[in-house]
Amino acid sequence: MRYDTVIMGGGLSGLMCGIALCKAGQRVAIVTSGQSSLHFNGGSLELLGYVDGQPVTHPLESINQLPAGHPYQKLGAERIAALAHEAALVLADAGLHTTGNANENHCRISPMGVMLPAWLTLEGYVALPMGKDCPWRRVLMVNVEGYLDFPVDFVVSGLRKQGLDVVVADVVTDELEQRRHTPSEMRATQLAKVLSTRVATEHLADAINVAAVDVDAILLPAIIGLTDDSLERLRQLVKLPLHLVATLPPSVAGTRMQAQLRHYFQMLGGTYLLGDTVTCASFNGDAVASVETEKLGDMPLRATHFVLATGSFMSKGLAANFERVYEPVMNLDVDADGSRSEWTRYDVLEPQPYMTYGVATTADFHVVKGGKPVPNVFAIGSVLSGHDAVKNHDGTGVSALTGLAVAHNILGK
Ligand SMILES: Cc1cc2nc3c(=O)[nH]c(=O)nc-3n(C[C@H](O)[C@H](O)[C@H](O)COP(=O)(O)OP(=O)(O)OC[C@H]3O[C@@H](n4cnc5c(N)ncnc54)[C@H](O)[C@@H]3O)c2cc1C
Repeated sequence: MRYDTVIMGGGLSGLMCGIALCKAGQRVAIVTSGQSSLHFNGGSLELLGYVDGQPVTHPLESINQLPAGHPYQKLGAERIAALAHEAALVLADAGLHTTGNANENHCRISPMGVMLPAWLTLEGYVALPMGKDCPWRRVLMVNVEGYLDFPVDFVVSGLRKQGLDVVVADVVTDELEQRRHTPSEMRATQLAKVLSTRVATEHLADAINVAAVDVDAILLPAIIGLTDDSLERLRQLVKLPLHLVATLPPSVAGTRMQAQLRHYFQMLGGTYLLGDTVTCASFNGDAVASVETEKLGDMPLRATHFVLATGSFMSKGLAANFERVYEPVMNLDVDADGSRSEWTRYDVLEPQPYMTYGVATTADFHVVKGGKPVPNVFAIGSVLSGHDAVKNHDGTGVSALTGLAVAHNILGK
């Protein structure tokens, strides 16, 4: 099977890259093992949230404070601004409308009630101005009885720290009550399926309207709007502005983003091979000629270009044994400390060195093997070295922007 480009990994970075290539008329295949880290996403993307432990208000102005090996330093502030704008347009084309921009962060609420800087937030989710007065004085926090993936006390305490007056109301409807008979079904994505019918949405709206007295806005755990327009319907039915707050995984927002981006990629003609794993690559001189997968066996995927978008340790894009950190598909050069004792810090709250480990790349994201750039293979996203998504809150930004940048490199733009 021959393609213009084969992308290994179908998370945010792989999908962004694949969409841009398909739009330009390329034949593209994405091979992906399974869940991506987008499935854990709370509804916001982060470009750059923290530098040296301090929250960032203007991400583009803070890029120059990042270390030299950071992927953003390879792109430069001007290109980052253009790519960030393009990323928001791609999301909108995929049906994922967002608020926010790269010039100024806003605040999102994490599932644990912490206010965090964010770049783009899905429409319908809480997005508060950063460092400015909150638009609400008193809010209703809806608590869904029996739903445990939303620590309501933490969220309320986080909101109160912002000076908000918060009223909590338990909301029960027939449809949600029926789900409680099977506690394992009380997960955000399951509840979103239950609430997708018109009647169930109307019942929820009625219950919320009864509780929403003398408040400026209604906050609801993100348990609605998985694949349909039920969130928009609910927002029309309730009598005050309603905003969703991220829940613990499985997350409705992340599952929706992954599904919509995949659907858009396939709509553009892309091939998405889900549930398969790239095992190795065959080289022709310095270049890769084809890759093999577990399921396709002796039918290798050939292409002019290959893109490694396999994620970090959690997604198995990187692996480690007692001796070394390595890249499992092509055994590419990685940037990592040599000695195992240097990979982690004893204090778990300190930045962990292994978070910055990843494949080594040239200035335009070509991967490197045995000290030499591989001319037709690029790396994107969290498999790249030089950034710490936990410390800098830049994971989705790095993934979206490097995905688009490499697509442009391949297209010669
Ligand atoms: C738990 C968690 C929560 C997060 N929450 C947020 C958040 O709320 N907001 C935010 O901005 N950022 C968040 N991030 C960071 C952000 O989601 C990631 O940095 C970003 O989505 C990474 O995208 P990626 O495409 O580089 O990699 P991934 O999403 O890891 O995707 C890599 C894909 O490659 C596949 N793969 C791996 N090896 C192979 C192979 N050999 N063959 C085929 N496929 C393979 C994997 O199965 C996976 O699907 C979170 C990250 C994590 C881990």
